[in-house]
Amino acid sequence: MRLLVAEDDQSLAMFLQRGLEADGHRVRWEGSGSAALAAYRDEFPDLTILDLGLPIMDGEQVLSQMRVADSQSPILVLTGRQEMETRIRCLDLGADDFLLKPFSLHELRARCRALLRRKREAKLLLRAADLELDRLDRTARRNGELVALTNKEFALMEHLMLRRGQCVSRVELLDAVWNMEPALTTNIVDVYVNYLRRKLKDAPPGFLLRTVRGQGYVVPSEAELALPLPATVSSAAVIADRDAQRSSQAIPVRP
Ligand code: CA
Repeated sequence: MRLLVAEDDQSLAMFLQRGLEADGHRVRWEGSGSAALAAYRDEFPDLTILDLGLPIMDGEQVLSQMRVADSQSPILVLTGRQEMETRIRCLDLGADDFLLKPFSLHELRARCRALLRRKREAKLLLRAADLELDRLDRTARRNGELVALTNKEFALMEHLMLRRGQCVSRVELLDAVWNMEPALTTNIVDVYVNYLRRKLKDAPPGFLLRTVRGQGYVVPSEAELALPLPATVSSAAVIADRDAQRSSQAIPVRP
């Protein structure tokens, strides 16, 4: 796993790095708040260990910015501050765990293992409304019924579900699912979105898989799914869908 350690005390950082690397992790160390935030945005680590007292940008500020960038990746906060208020504030800002200095390396490693295990388990089964993607046996179920998807269809839906609530561009999908350079001439993403909608019985404009006109596709968050479909989105999606259907006839891709 890729770990990020944000700690300005160099000897403590080296000690942590050695201990965590012994567990088989790849560890990146940053000594300031701003550098840690940049590294986080750059690499999206599997786990971050964040000291609160950091130079240039304070740890609490870094924590809230990290949460804006990615709401899922676990963050373990380290601090010498005893007060309960600090602890509550950090948990409110989105920290997953909290360790008071001084701590033992054994305890830190155990907490890291627990956070990573929780993350793995949460990510094995992806859900949106009544749709379930099992990433272990790579199956999809809608309302309990198995939906047969091809590898590419599954990978496309999986990528959108992992980025749930965010609009994902066609360029990103081409790269992530097809490992293809962005090419203006291909409409393969739109074609596959249509295949998926058909198989998932998610009729255009799409309840689970929505078009964001001119930008890409989104699987809405649970809160957004509870809202009525906005009229502007549906008409835009219908137009984009019609375009995709028309152009889909031009290329010889089959699911
Ligand atoms: Ca510090």
